[in-house]
Amino acid sequence: MPLTDKFGRPITDLRLSITDRCNYKCVYCRTGNEGALYGDLPFEDYLRMARVLVGLGIQKVRLTGGEPLLRKGVVEFVQELEKLNPQNSDPLDLALTTNGHLLADLAQPLKDAGLNRVTVSMDAVDPDRFARITRVPGGYEHMLAGIRAARRAGLWPLKVNCVLMRGFNEDQIIPFGMFAREEGVIVRFIEFMPLEEDRTWSPTTVVTLDEILARMSEYRPLVEIPHARSETARRYRFDDGIGEIGIIAPVSHPFCGHCSRIRITSDGKIRTCLFSVWDHDLYGQMQRGASDEELAEFIRGVVMKKEARHHIGEPDFVPASRTMVHIGG
Ligand code: SAM
Repeated sequence: MPLTDKFGRPITDLRLSITDRCNYKCVYCRTGNEGALYGDLPFEDYLRMARVLVGLGIQKVRLTGGEPLLRKGVVEFVQELEKLNPQNSDPLDLALTTNGHLLADLAQPLKDAGLNRVTVSMDAVDPDRFARITRVPGGYEHMLAGIRAARRAGLWPLKVNCVLMRGFNEDQIIPFGMFAREEGVIVRFIEFMPLEEDRTWSPTTVVTLDEILARMSEYRPLVEIPHARSETARRYRFDDGIGEIGIIAPVSHPFCGHCSRIRITSDGKIRTCLFSVWDHDLYGQMQRGASDEELAEFIRGVVMKKEARHHIGEPDFVPASRTMVHIGG
């Protein structure tokens, strides 16, 4: 029986955080004051969790963090994940989200180990602005080298995620359209969500899907591309067929009804929604000596508690019990 929640949503997509440390301090994410709060686990523990979840119907595993490339041994971990066999007998779809800072040297080894795809976070097409957002000087060249190395290694499709935050980078929309066309990458704009440590979010800081589309259309007309129901991004290509962009609009156009995701934090807790106000201690079950069958039963029970939707911007909104860096985006 595939993993399904009580609303009938099939759960096929695992986001696995392998550290909550990060070498960047992006304004929409970390305060810069705190590093790891929860710590991380040996890879063999994550591997066991992933194996049980793949046995339950997970088809995609995305490694995230914190910054996942800070973990020594990540290449060998990918090699082990690659050996897992999903129920549908297609190979496991293995992806990684990274800030790209350490990617230049790791792209080819990760590809050789079995990684299929990578998403690089990049919030400005300009070194100075990039440094203002990440609060780390000199990162732009490393990140760009990482993107180019990933493309050379065949980590494809290559996506670039840009969180737009009013007052910081909303003027970067058209430069990113040009970047997508020139570099042959898919640029995805993400609406800013209230998951940051600085607690600066308000509805007015969000640059919405409608605004992004209007601005980009001043540069070149866009044509919408049909997207899969469970895909988070609405997809568009430019009218001449060169360059693709995506918009992930959880605030203005929520897609919770099609959510297929489950998350495991770096300390081994299951989170059923980015905006969960509690988590479920999978690692605790392992420490108590649970068998794989018992872990599977625990996971099925947790998935049944998956939230119907988030409540961003509503009067009853309660902030998530962890910020993004400690969940794994
Ligand atoms: N360190 C990696 C990176 O930079 O991609 C992986 C972890 S990061 C938390 C994962 C993704 O979450 C990034 O694409 C980042 O831009 C996004 N993110 C972080 N905080 C966010 C927020 N408040 N709203 C929307 N997206 C956010």
